[in-house]
Amino acid sequence: MKPMPNRDTYDVVVVGGGPAGAVAARESARRGASVLLIEERRQIGLPVQCTGLLSVRGFEAAEANPDVILREVRGAFAHAPDGRILSVESPRVHAYVMDRDRFDCNLVELARNAGVEVQIPARAVGFQPGKLSVQADGKTEVIKTKVVIGADGPQSRVARWAGLAPPEKFIVAIQVTIPYEPEREDFVHVYLSRTIAPAFFAWAVPSTRGYARVGLGTDDGKKARTYLDCWLNKEFPGRTVMGFNAGAIPIGPVERTVSDGVLLVGDAAGQAKPTSGGGIFTGISCAKIAAEVAMRAVSENDVSKKNLSEYEKRWRELFEMELRFGMLAHELLCRMSDEEISKVFETADDPELLTLIGEHGDIDYPSGIAKALLKKPALWGKFLQVVPWDMDLLIKALRYLL
Ligand SMILES: Cc1cc2nc3c(=O)[nH]c(=O)nc-3n(C[C@H](O)[C@H](O)[C@H](O)COP(=O)(O)OP(=O)(O)OC[C@H]3O[C@@H](n4cnc5c(N)ncnc54)[C@H](O)[C@@H]3O)c2cc1C
Repeated sequence: MKPMPNRDTYDVVVVGGGPAGAVAARESARRGASVLLIEERRQIGLPVQCTGLLSVRGFEAAEANPDVILREVRGAFAHAPDGRILSVESPRVHAYVMDRDRFDCNLVELARNAGVEVQIPARAVGFQPGKLSVQADGKTEVIKTKVVIGADGPQSRVARWAGLAPPEKFIVAIQVTIPYEPEREDFVHVYLSRTIAPAFFAWAVPSTRGYARVGLGTDDGKKARTYLDCWLNKEFPGRTVMGFNAGAIPIGPVERTVSDGVLLVGDAAGQAKPTSGGGIFTGISCAKIAAEVAMRAVSENDVSKKNLSEYEKRWRELFEMELRFGMLAHELLCRMSDEEISKVFETADDPELLTLIGEHGDIDYPSGIAKALLKKPALWGKFLQVVPWDMDLLIKALRYLL
């Protein structure tokens, strides 16, 4: 185990060695900052709590080594509660399925190469502006730092210490690996049904040859395991179940992500997409902005909340509309019965619409489909008839889309 770092004062200490933390640390170091990254787990990336799906755009933003890619994804089969299956194919490779623990290790390695000091295992246990208490090897030390970037995931302690409110809602996501021979190796399966996965969805994503990661998310966390067992018994009876993992996905952006000497990124900031639960792309993108703003503030010798608030403004310009629109879509899904979901599928089972989704569908920017739909009033009208809208929801949705 490495000794505790003994630098007098760091420019930036990043708490959390997930993708958002590793990228925030790397980008801060690339801008000339002295950076310490601390991670409480014994091994970066383990245990894995992820399906490992990342858009091509997100993968490029991460700069990870392509050898962590297991598969290319070109399309999806969407399953309705009544058994109808819609197939949507993109004209290009849209996403990758990755080996998530090797992805995380690779990002931390890139941070190290950029000059970041990495301390593992080391846990942040307290914070006051300018000082972070860190526990490692049975000892607690106070580390001086100008800025703390809280990349400490869904239950962020940094947020609590800085008086920043938690995300609006948590989805519990639970997943196993099963033997699986896909009909299309480059397609993922998504199952929308209140009975299978209330308030979210279930998935089957081909991973290494002969296997798939199958799981579901729900807002009824206590019953998540029961829902998963029921669905596995029905959909994949008799399969050997391996690699169980579960975690919380925070959805709904937090009210504030900046305080004196503190910035929050990734799940700590509620930056995961409410429609898919994907948080890697948004977390990495916001981490880059956080690094830029932190370094500007450090060089100006002013790390006050006011001076760091440029981060808040910039990341919200990029993603807030998308996240808020995603929360509306989530709210709508929560209201829908299986019968209503099946009706939406029936309406969507239209060659013109499926082509439109194939062309405009983007897991990073899911509102793109709704925007494209707005230009086709005939299709729009059909959906309004089957979806349980109310005026309030409709007005909010139009505000985000127009
Ligand atoms: C089952 C499941 C499937 C998912 N699938 C996908 C997917 O396919 N694609 C996708 O984009 N997203 C997916 N997600 C979401 C994705 O995993 C997260 O959005 C992403 O990991 C967030 O990255 P992060 O760096 O913000 O936080 P994390 O990856 O959670 O990293 C936070 C790190 O901080 C460390 N930490 C916490 N507290 C402290 C402390 N006090 N001191 C030191 N270290 C600390 C933790 O140990 C952890 O390593 C999934 C989530 C789940 C649960």
